[in-house]
Amino acid sequence: MAPTGSDIVYLDYNATAPARPEVIDAAARAATAGGNPSSVHAAGRRARLAVEEAREAVAALVGAAPAQVVFTGSGTEANNLALRGSGRRRLLVSAIEHDSVLRAAPEAERIPVQASGVTDLDALAEALARDGPPALVSVMLANNETGAVQPVAAAAEIAHAHGALLHCDAVQAAGRIPVDMAALGVDLMTLSAHKIGGLPGVGALIVADHVPVAAGILGGGQERGRRAGTENVPGIAAFGAAASLVPAALADQPRIAALRDRLESEVLALAPAAVIFGREAERLPNTSCIALPGASADMQVMMLDLAGVAVSAGAACSSGKVTPSHVLAAMGAGEDLAGSAIRVSLGWGNSALDVDRFIEAWRAVARRASPGSAAA
Ligand code: PLP
Repeated sequence: MAPTGSDIVYLDYNATAPARPEVIDAAARAATAGGNPSSVHAAGRRARLAVEEAREAVAALVGAAPAQVVFTGSGTEANNLALRGSGRRRLLVSAIEHDSVLRAAPEAERIPVQASGVTDLDALAEALARDGPPALVSVMLANNETGAVQPVAAAAEIAHAHGALLHCDAVQAAGRIPVDMAALGVDLMTLSAHKIGGLPGVGALIVADHVPVAAGILGGGQERGRRAGTENVPGIAAFGAAASLVPAALADQPRIAALRDRLESEVLALAPAAVIFGREAERLPNTSCIALPGASADMQVMMLDLAGVAVSAGAACSSGKVTPSHVLAAMGAGEDLAGSAIRVSLGWGNSALDVDRFIEAWRAVARRASPGSAAA
């Protein structure tokens, strides 16, 4: 099934997941009802109720309390708020964080990752053991390019032992693996609506009670003074609807993992030289980062696109242009190999037929890279 409403085989859920019908209904209902949640009249109160119901659903998604949820205009904004609003002057971030973490804190110390794409906790502990002002550490729960799940609970323990706070970007993990903020022991957590089947342009920073956060956007007193601006009520209602669907989404992950695993075995059968990044690590069930030496990522994306299959190259999450991946570089991949990596990411709308169509299209890619191979 192609949730985009065409016959495109959409395999780019880590860029954005198609909105589920229930989510679109929730947004339409809120947009039709109108009202500003700060208004005291009936229309305002209805809008406030929609926002607060969504807050409860988003909080429940990560086992937090509703008052801990700060709605933002994106996951990017939530990451910026965490890194710049915590007041901590020393920042440490894993080398594979999303650009919205890396660019929000260009001065941050970068913690290396192992070849498998997993953050090096010894390096984190060593860095924190060096003297410095109270720190904030940022480690994502799952990487957007490789799907590698990070040792966040252990990182939080190390951070706390050194008096540091732990921020976790859980944007790609939510809806794909269980996420429990307290069990992970994190102090600040970022979510993004459009990665779990909500709409783009809405995110959340979940803030533990003991953590003060200074607003990055000033104006009215919305979001308990932590994020000014009239709330995006339809987007927030859609986020709440998508969050309520997460238990069903989690139950669907074994099916999605089976699709992904078949896709990878067929890729390797067609092209034994192909490399799957992060395969040695625990990964998200839906993500595959596949490099084919000799076949540039942009050529692969273009050939697949012409065949009606949508995937992305590197972290083409915002720009659409192909730039070298800092994630694969941090894992030790040379420019040539990293430049031949595509990201395939599946989700709720995909079926076995989509994997068949990907393989059919990718066969031509493999043939071009290596005439005379099993793909021929
Ligand atoms: N963090 C990660 C890991 C992401 O993959 C993305 C988007 O791709 C973001 C943050 C940014 O989220 P948003 O698109 O809501 O700004």
